[in-house]
Amino acid sequence: MAMTAAVKDELSRLAVTKPCCRKAEVASVFRYGGSLHIVGGRIAIEAELDTGAAARRLRKDIWEVYSHRADLVIQSPGGLRRGHRYQLRVTAGGEAMARQIGMVDGQGRPAFGLPPYLVNGPLCDCEAVWRGAFLAHGSLTEPGRSSALEITCPNMESAIALAGAARRLGIPGAKHREVRGSDRVVIRDGDAISALLTRLGAHESVLAWEERRMRREVRATANRLANFDDANLRRSARAAVAAGARVSRALEILGDDAPEHLAAAGRLRLDHKQASLEELGTLADPPLTKDAIAGRIRRLLAMADRRAFELGIDGTDGPHPAAGQASPAIAATGPEGSIGPQSVPAAQAPHGTAVTVPTQAGGVSADSAAQRSQELPASTDTSIVSQVGPGALSSPGSR
Ligand SMILES: [Zn+2]
Repeated sequence: MAMTAAVKDELSRLAVTKPCCRKAEVASVFRYGGSLHIVGGRIAIEAELDTGAAARRLRKDIWEVYSHRADLVIQSPGGLRRGHRYQLRVTAGGEAMARQIGMVDGQGRPAFGLPPYLVNGPLCDCEAVWRGAFLAHGSLTEPGRSSALEITCPNMESAIALAGAARRLGIPGAKHREVRGSDRVVIRDGDAISALLTRLGAHESVLAWEERRMRREVRATANRLANFDDANLRRSARAAVAAGARVSRALEILGDDAPEHLAAAGRLRLDHKQASLEELGTLADPPLTKDAIAGRIRRLLAMADRRAFELGIDGTDGPHPAAGQASPAIAATGPEGSIGPQSVPAAQAPHGTAVTVPTQAGGVSADSAAQRSQELPASTDTSIVSQVGPGALSSPGSR
């Protein structure tokens, strides 16, 4: 069931016993969904509703609280109307009732806002006014970006009065809006909508609304995570920070031996840890393409790792293999993907995109390292060198 219909259905079944609340609800249904007519020179009042249950509830209250009889006319769907319309008309005693509910003032002139006894009445009557207004002209759209609880009002005064009633109930964000010439009261905040529905007594609708909101939120989060840009941003930031740590170690290993253009690229990486490769390239002097800066950083790391291997010290990506650990395999992709032919005991993968440094204890074939490098999520241009941890390669069954 659509949310609007669910709320109306629940409100029209809600048991309300206090006479002040029943009076207020009737007055509100006429205020927000009614009209004044002159029939035979006398004032008649009419209210139009879109469900039979709401119409029956109104007719009962008119009789029990105001002691007037209302005639019910059911209009079939047609023209622009999709559903039945239920018109209740009070002809005999209509003028007296119009005064009682504040549709006309003491001089018999039409009134526009809510009568003072409702504007300044008890909070239970603020709730009743909102119930009546929703039954008469309310709508609630599905949770989402444009979700809203809305009441279409007959004029500006009644809209301002309704927004005021929401404020008195402690519901934030009920705003009077003029949309295409019609006055509306709109609440957009999901929590405020829940709070108002609770005050109105539409508890099943609150549960349904909250459940749909939650499902919607889970979907939205999933969509955000799947969003390419966002995921990529986070991934490049992580990759940049990891690369920063490796570059710092590389500069330490090579010291003054680092070729100046490679060291400069490394220093840029350190000075701007969160910057993308593209941004780093523009910061270089002279500017470099992102592939060129990535290549220089890769060569710096490779050079440092070779030096570390020769010296038997820790490389840029963890403890030295001699310290009893399996050596990490280095896999890289991109135009300058392979670390280089002079790479010490390195085996070139068939397609030239991966290089592994075998461990002393048998090691791993270049094939499997290449395979694994393809499974890595971050082996895009944003991560300079992807590291396959020793654990990932030492699983039983790996060739
Ligand atoms: Zn009351």
